[in-house]
This record gives sequence, structure tokens and C-alpha cells, in this order.
Amino acid sequence: MEDNLTVWDRIAERARAEKWTIGLSIAATAGLVAFGVHVAAAILLWALWLAVLLVGGLSARARPPQVAVPAAAETVDLALPVAFLDALDAPILVVGEDERVVFQNTAAEKAFGTILPQTELSGRVRSPGILDMVRETIATGKVNQIEHSERFPSEQVYIVRVAPAETSGADGERYFLLSYRDISQARRIDRMRSDFVANASHELRTPLASLRGFIETLQGPARNDPAAHERFLGIMHEQSTRMSRLVDDLLSLSRLELRSHIAPEGSVDLVPLLGHVRDALMPLAEELDVEILLDTPAEPLIVQGDRDELTEVVENLIENACKYGQEGKKVEVWLSGGGGKPVELSVKDYGPGIPAEHVPRITERFYRINVEASRSKKGTGLGLAIVKHILTRHRARLIVQSEVGKGTVFTVRF
Ligand code: ADP
Repeated sequence: MEDNLTVWDRIAERARAEKWTIGLSIAATAGLVAFGVHVAAAILLWALWLAVLLVGGLSARARPPQVAVPAAAETVDLALPVAFLDALDAPILVVGEDERVVFQNTAAEKAFGTILPQTELSGRVRSPGILDMVRETIATGKVNQIEHSERFPSEQVYIVRVAPAETSGADGERYFLLSYRDISQARRIDRMRSDFVANASHELRTPLASLRGFIETLQGPARNDPAAHERFLGIMHEQSTRMSRLVDDLLSLSRLELRSHIAPEGSVDLVPLLGHVRDALMPLAEELDVEILLDTPAEPLIVQGDRDELTEVVENLIENACKYGQEGKKVEVWLSGGGGKPVELSVKDYGPGIPAEHVPRITERFYRINVEASRSKKGTGLGLAIVKHILTRHRARLIVQSEVGKGTVFTVRF
């Protein structure tokens, strides 16, 4: 459908719709001249009439046909069904047997722009599939529906259905209801779900394939090689740990999804929580030669939340800062706010930073700037997705400020 018609397009459309009336009017004008009316006066009168016809119809929207009402129902308010159609959020067009649009509801006007009364459907609906379907329903009286997608202004997928209306107009003409059901959101969720399953299977298949390969080698060529046993069992241990990390993260995500609409009930003091996480991550920090510097207030800083989930958030952020910001040698963690101001928890590293185009996507499941770098650092690609889910449940926001070559600050604002 085309939305942005100019005034001239609309005049042309109306002229097309009124071509028979205009033809007759030219004949009538010629008749006037033949009966002795001055040519200039006749043309002036005709031009005035034409202007009123074309421009006067511009503000009109296709309205419903006059429906023949049975005598017993004479008191029925015909405006009522129209009001109902206007209240629907699905775009609806009523089309006559001659394939002209006689009514569009408000949702159709919003989605496709104003359609003038008596506009031919093919003048506004370009999809051959929809036009063929309407023609078939007009010919057979049977209900039809097809899936139809539009790319502009944004990608939308509709189920378009055409059904004959039970009633016919005063002129004996039959009418057909063309309705659009928007299924774009459902399609997007389907795609996300299948992408997720494909990604998760792929992530599990890689270590599984490697485990199988080593088992076969140990059973075959390396059966009697103790040195190979030692080395391969080490790698197998590493791969199986990677698989269980992934499964743990997947379970964690699915648990969070189940609880996403339930607000956490407890209250948590962030000061000791940060201390515990720092202590737990000390071995990793020492291994990576990174110093974790804490700056917390002397008094408690309480937020409403779930202790275990907030611990998982802080662990993920500090662990990422140590792993990806290793070259910066230090990670700073501090708390601010409280006493009426929003509480903020920040984790800063002096690593390579995150290029701006990646920032909006790093909380997506399995999104990694560099897959190999993440794998080599024992990442699953799910850490920040878990962080985002937990924070959504806590009504908190994650703010990422990063400068390439200088480092990144992740801030949680409660
Ligand atoms: P992973 O398990 O791969 O660490 P995350 O969801 O925790 O997954 O992070 C997603 C990606 O975001 C990482 O793979 C990494 O590319 C990037 N990233 C996260 N934290 C940082 C950071 N502090 N500095 C640079 N890049 C980061």
C-alpha cells in the first residue's frame, strides 16, 4: 500500500474513479453550446463543477455503503457497526463486487493512508496475491486468506483475510470484508526462539565433537600412550567443564525468564556484597595479573533485590572487566548515590573498549564481539544476557560507556 500520496495523486485518483461522470459532463457541456450557450460560459461552468467534484472529495474517506435494512430492524443505528469497525485495531477495508473500496476503518487509514471513496482496490493494493484472492472470493463467495509481508516503512507480516459480508447494499450489490491481522511481533519472537535453539545447539556441539574425537583417539591410536592419555584427559576435562558452564547459564536464563514478572522481595546491602565478590574473584584476578580496586562507603547502601541474583550481576561484570580488560592491569569498582539519589554500582576497566556499533547488542544471547577471544576466556556469550534479565526484574538499568583503546565503564542504576 502507498501512504504518502500528494494532493495531485489524490486528484488523479478521484478523476479515475469519476471518469464516467466526467465523460457525461463533457457531453452535457457540448450540449449546452449546441443549444446556444456561449462557449466560454459553458466551459467556465464545467470547470467550476469539475473543481468542486475533484477537490471537494479530497477530505472524504471511503465510508460504508447504505445497507438495506429489513423492515423489522428499521430502528437499528447503522452508524453503530461502523463505530465498531473503527474501534478495531486491525486494518479493515470493505470492497464492493466491482472491486472498489467503499469503506476503510481508522486503523486502515493509519496503516495505509486515506483511500478515497470508490477507489479501485488495485489502485491501492499492489500485491497480486491479495488482488487474486479478493477476485476469487467475489467469484465464489468463499472465505480466503493469505500471508502477506510489506518491507516499507518497516518489515510487517500480515494475515490478510477476505470474507463476504452477510448483507448486501440497497443497490443489491454484495460487499466483502478485507481484514489485515498483524503477526509481525509473533514472527519476530519465533525467529528469536529458533535462532536461540540453533545457537545453543551449536555451542554444545563444538565441545561435544571434540570430546568424541578424543575418546576415539584414546580407544584407537593412543591406546597405549600414557603421555597422550594425560594430555587428552586434560583437554576433555576442559571441554566438559565448558559444556556444564553453558548448561548452567542456559538454566539460569530460563529460570530468570520464568520469574521475570515477579519483583524481588528482599533487601540487600551492596557494600559487603561487593567485598565477597571481590574475594571470590581474587584467584582469577591474580591469574590474569589484574588488581581489583574497591571504593565503597563506610555505611550500608541498601537496595531492594535478590542477594544471589545481584551477586551474579556483580560477578559477571567484574569477571568480564578482568578478562577483557586484562591489559589495563586494574579494575575499579565503586558505589554512589543513596539518600534519595539513585544508587549506582560501577565497574571500570582500562582494556580495549567496545566499538560503538557493538554496544547496543552485547546483552543479546550469544552475542560476542570476537567469538574466539570469548571462548579462549571461557565465555559462553550468555553472561550479559543474564545480567540484563536480572536487572530488568530488579527495575534497574545497565549503562555502558566505552571508549575504544581506553576502556569501559558498566554502571548499574537502581
Ligand atoms: P562472554 O561469556 O563471551 O563473556 P558476555 O555476555 O559476558 O559473554 O559478554 C558478551 C561480549 O561482550 C563478550 O564476548 C565481549 O566481546 C564483550 N564484553 C563484555 N564485557 C567487556 C569488557 N569489559 N570489555 C570489552 N568487551 C567486553
